[in-house]
Amino acid sequence: MMESDKVKNTVPAKKRIALVAHDHRKDELIEWCQKNRTVLEEHQLCGTGTTAALIARATGLPVTAYKSGPLGGDQQIGARIAEGGIDMLIFFWDPLEAQPHDPDVKALLRIAVVYDIPAANNQSTANFLLTSPLLKEEYVRELPDYGSLLAERADRLASKTES
Ligand code: PGA
Repeated sequence: MMESDKVKNTVPAKKRIALVAHDHRKDELIEWCQKNRTVLEEHQLCGTGTTAALIARATGLPVTAYKSGPLGGDQQIGARIAEGGIDMLIFFWDPLEAQPHDPDVKALLRIAVVYDIPAANNQSTANFLLTSPLLKEEYVRELPDYGSLLAERADRLASKTES
């Protein structure tokens, strides 16, 4: 793909941050949110159902709750990322225990890469993200031109079936 096949996408200064933690890591994420409350309150927060409810309760911050992870919450957050509605993902997933919704977890991590979303899966990375000067500024992401790629692919497949 050539450089010109990129699409610029401006991420707002006020970031839309998704917060997700598996059960064994919820305490860690809640504590991290309490510690970083003053930074987080400058942004717009959302999360999977249980994580969002617990963080809202512990910090007093508004956190939009999607469905619980195993009931589709990870997929909802993935869909919001694909639509351009989420700018950052803090996802403390459990590296020591399989989850019933492992395919959804993998899909969420994958879609964050597809859309070049900053994603932290542990405290150190989350600390680096939260202290980045880019957090408070508009940021221009450069994504592959997925629209053109799709159109090219549709043309290619159509010409195959027509021949
Ligand atoms: P929960 O979902 O916040 O509803 O527990 C998190 C997850 O398991 O993905």
